[in-house]
Amino acid sequence: MDRTHLGTGAKLLQERRPDLFGIFFQGIDIMQHFTWEFMDPLGTGTGPTIAERARWGQAIERYYAFADELVGALVEAGGSERGVLIVSDHGFQPDTLRWEKKGISGEHRRQSFFLYAGPGIERGKRIDDFDAVDATPTILAYHGLPVAHDMDGEPCLDAHTAKWREHHPIEWIETYEIGDWDRGDLPAESLSEDLEERIRALGYID
Ligand SMILES: [Zn+2]
Repeated sequence: MDRTHLGTGAKLLQERRPDLFGIFFQGIDIMQHFTWEFMDPLGTGTGPTIAERARWGQAIERYYAFADELVGALVEAGGSERGVLIVSDHGFQPDTLRWEKKGISGEHRRQSFFLYAGPGIERGKRIDDFDAVDATPTILAYHGLPVAHDMDGEPCLDAHTAKWREHHPIEWIETYEIGDWDRGDLPAESLSEDLEERIRALGYID
């Protein structure tokens, strides 16, 4: 699935050159739900065998390396003039709440990380208080577009170089909301069986 997303994403980036482009890689999430116990048997207490640990113990680390390759290929497809923001909406921890029913040994936790690079972005600077909700205001500020007061997050201006901030002064507006809008009908049966099965396998529905 991640390879498909990369292939489609790289093609769209190269052919259509959009100003803003987002892509979701889900493999790391699935990998951590199902193989955390092999990397961290003490943390989960599920008692995997030595053979299982030998086979799967490095799966998460290796998947991160694989995902890093995907991101690298995508960044290359996008060209060097782009800012790149990598945001995870959650981190992971050992947790056997769904172990009995689903064989899941890792669950989400709030703490996560972000990576931000490109023209006008400080190199090697560590920022500790970034939150996933800061992504939208940060992207708007980076592009010189107004940030709204009613957004949950804040633009991460410390990440931008002084020179960039000088040339992209931040503009504030009250809101981007334009009133009620028609979200259309989304009947439950619009979920394909395949998608439903995947969501079930991940434990989001029973
Ligand atoms: Zn998950």
